[in-house]
Amino acid sequence: MSSLLKITSESGESSCAPNSRMINIEPSSIVPDKFLGRAAVITLGCAKNRVDSEVMLGSLVRKGFEIVTDPSEAEIVIVNTCSFLESSVKESVDAILEVAELKEKGRCRQIFVAGCLVERYKEELKESLPEVDKFISIDDISHVGDAASSSFESIIERAARPYFLYDDTLPRYLSTKQHTAYVKISEGCNRPCTFCIIPKLRGAMRSREISSVVKEIEDLAKSGVKEVNLIAQDLTSYGLDRKGPRLAELLRAIDASSAMPWVRLLYAYPVGTDEELIRTISELPSITEYYDIPLQHSSESVLKAMKRPIGKFSARKIVNLIKSTSPDIHIRTTFIVGFPGETEKDIQDLEDFVKQGYFTNLGVFKYSPEPGTEAFNLPGQVSEEEKEARYSRIMLAQQQVVTEHLQQYLGSSLEVLIEGTHQDTDLLLSARTRFQAPEIDGEIIINDIAEQCQGVTVGALGEVEVTEIAGYDMVGTLKKIIKR
Ligand code: SF4
Repeated sequence: MSSLLKITSESGESSCAPNSRMINIEPSSIVPDKFLGRAAVITLGCAKNRVDSEVMLGSLVRKGFEIVTDPSEAEIVIVNTCSFLESSVKESVDAILEVAELKEKGRCRQIFVAGCLVERYKEELKESLPEVDKFISIDDISHVGDAASSSFESIIERAARPYFLYDDTLPRYLSTKQHTAYVKISEGCNRPCTFCIIPKLRGAMRSREISSVVKEIEDLAKSGVKEVNLIAQDLTSYGLDRKGPRLAELLRAIDASSAMPWVRLLYAYPVGTDEELIRTISELPSITEYYDIPLQHSSESVLKAMKRPIGKFSARKIVNLIKSTSPDIHIRTTFIVGFPGETEKDIQDLEDFVKQGYFTNLGVFKYSPEPGTEAFNLPGQVSEEEKEARYSRIMLAQQQVVTEHLQQYLGSSLEVLIEGTHQDTDLLLSARTRFQAPEIDGEIIINDIAEQCQGVTVGALGEVEVTEIAGYDMVGTLKKIIKR
């Protein structure tokens, strides 16, 4: 085995040609009248917001702006905000004020603010943030290029609730690593979860046509992407609004186009999670055996207070359905601890549920009371100290599960996607398996590669033999490159 790990970027170049990150449009057709300057987008919040940023970037490139990643080098900076939690509101305002300093001292001439903060605090923003030149509502993200190059007025007054839904006809400038991308299959949400403000910000659930999603994934494959993560606020409601084909049919259409080696599902909901869908996931080769379904809690009384599904759609029932239909599917979930009224009995129930070891990956959030949500006024609010204690308790339970769970992979070979050199040292490589999503799950650390894998490229698929377990991560040797 060679000790030095050599890796080359997929394109072999240090930075890629600007239009090569564009999809949903023929790069050669991007001939803007003139160069209008440099633009940067700061994306806060979730992967769905990142896709919106990429649509805004696409609109800027088409208009004649060059995209830079460092805001201090840009003449126009867009802050795409999040306001899901009070803490994300603060983070968004801090980011805007930081950019305002660039406008005072630096190259920046215009500041645009977009995203959920604009939807949540439409009226107050103009007054409280005079530094901002334009507020862009969700319905106008595809017009940002026009807004940046003309006297286009913000339209935040227009619609009571957003209705915009991007599709494969809108250019997107990808901001993820070259081999992975997110595809939003629907926007908005109709669910009544009492702790969540999103339906008010993003509007009613509306899903894209199957042909539009498939076309976009084919375009992504042409641009070198190997992994697509399907996202939405409520993935499993796909197609309900159109009374048309549902998620399982969409997956069959994506797999039939065989354009993408790995397709992953994020943000499923209990209702809509049925045997047909789970069987479809496990039968189709390109759909990874991974199912992300935020369950929020296990206790029926807490789920009821959250207005989350109970009875046959309760957390336990859904997990049993998934595992009995396809035992090999890896489940990711998230739980909220410290919800108003949560008792010792409830948190014990959740701890016992986690210790049963159903979840390959798990996230825990401490309940955050959000103005404008139903739960904000519920009695029995839990102290921050107690929330902290419950958070650590559930995380510890999961850590024990993960350590045991990963032991089964020692000595076995796993298919991986090469992410690049490791964040701590370029003597190691970083990769992910089919059951590790980007940015939220563990990884595989490659500390040795077989001779025939020398010169492996970022974004390549390969096979790793697992030799060690390190916390939430695995360590191993790259044995083979998979051509696909
Ligand atoms: S399903 Fe998700 S986005 Fe929709 S209301 Fe519930 S928590 Fe919010």
